[in-house]
Amino acid sequence: MTHDNLYKQVARQLADYLLTKGKRLSVERQKVLQYFCGDRHQWTAVQLVERAVEDNISRATVYNVLRLLEQAQVVRFVRQSENSKTVVYELNVAQHNSLQMVCTRCQRIVELKDAAIADLVSQKKYANFRMSSFVLTVYGECKVCRKKKS
Ligand SMILES: [Zn+2]
Repeated sequence: MTHDNLYKQVARQLADYLLTKGKRLSVERQKVLQYFCGDRHQWTAVQLVERAVEDNISRATVYNVLRLLEQAQVVRFVRQSENSKTVVYELNVAQHNSLQMVCTRCQRIVELKDAAIADLVSQKKYANFRMSSFVLTVYGECKVCRKKKS
C-alpha cells in the first residue's frame, strides 16, 4: 500500500469517528496521522512530540490526538518487549505489515527493508489462525550507539 492510499484510508476512518463525536479532522489531527503513514510506522509518544514540534504542534495536542486515535481504533499501542515500559504506537490497519529494527540502547526504530522476509512471512499459512498482518522486530544496537561504545 502506498503512503498516500494508506493515509486516505486511515483519515477516512478517523473522520468518520470524529463525526460521531461532533468533531472535525483538524490540521493537527491530520498531521499526527500523517506521521504514522510515512517511512516510520511505529512511534513512541516522545518521538511524536519531537516530530510535532517541527510543525508547531504542542506536546499537549500530540497527547490529545494520540488519545483520540486510540479511541477511534486508528492506532494501537504495543510494548517493545515483555519487560519494557516503553509503549510504541502503530496504525491499527489490517494488511499493514511492518518490519523494523529497534536499538535497545537509544530505542530508535528503523524500518527494515527486506522484501524477502516480508514475502516469506506474509505467505505463511497456519492451520488455526488466519493472519491479517504482522510486525517483525529485530533488536540490537544501532550504528550511533555502537560508535559511542567503542
Ligand atoms: Zn542506538
